[in-house]
Amino acid sequence: MRAYVALGSNLGDSQQQLLDAIEALAGLPDTRLLARSRFYRTPPWGMLNQPDFLNAVVVLETPLLPHDLLDALLGIERDAGRERGGERWGPRTLDLDLLHVDGKTVSDERLTLPHPHLAERAFVLLPLSELSPDLEIPGRGRVVDLLRSVDTQGCEVLA
Ligand code: ATP
Ligand code: MG
Ligand code: MG
Repeated sequence: MRAYVALGSNLGDSQQQLLDAIEALAGLPDTRLLARSRFYRTPPWGMLNQPDFLNAVVVLETPLLPHDLLDALLGIERDAGRERGGERWGPRTLDLDLLHVDGKTVSDERLTLPHPHLAERAFVLLPLSELSPDLEIPGRGRVVDLLRSVDTQGCEVLA
């Protein structure tokens, strides 16, 4: 399966955390890293009074089923010191979200695919459009078209 994963961090050494996370993703069982976007510095979303984020997207080729992949992502977050229980959308060392898996639609208590906020988030659509501008998001449309409808102001590629 081809799985798109969004990475985000705004606590600690965010750049190192994203690099370590990408290495961990590439090291999942029988999994190959197909591509990774550049890193973007982006304004916080949802909860504004917190540091800027560093964001990226990677695409993996993996035999893991979506729920198993989600468990693997949560494990990598834990290893990076992610603490839950704070405010929703608050600061975090590492967030790994599953964006899109082979165009599948999933909706249960643990997993929603495609990711429910994908279409509203410049910090996801910008790096995703670098990898797959023509990707079709079920029920939403093409990534390039979605990108045109969001505010990308304040998002910049890390030098
Ligand atoms: P958001 O999902 O809006 O970006 P968040 O990433 O801060 O918010 P988390 O605290 O990281 O949310 O995740 C909460 C729960 O969301 C996870 O335990 C997971 O079960 C669930 N979840 C549902 N769909 C997804 C998905 N596509 N990717 C990652 N987690 C998901
Ligand atoms: Mg998230
Ligand atoms: Mg998350």
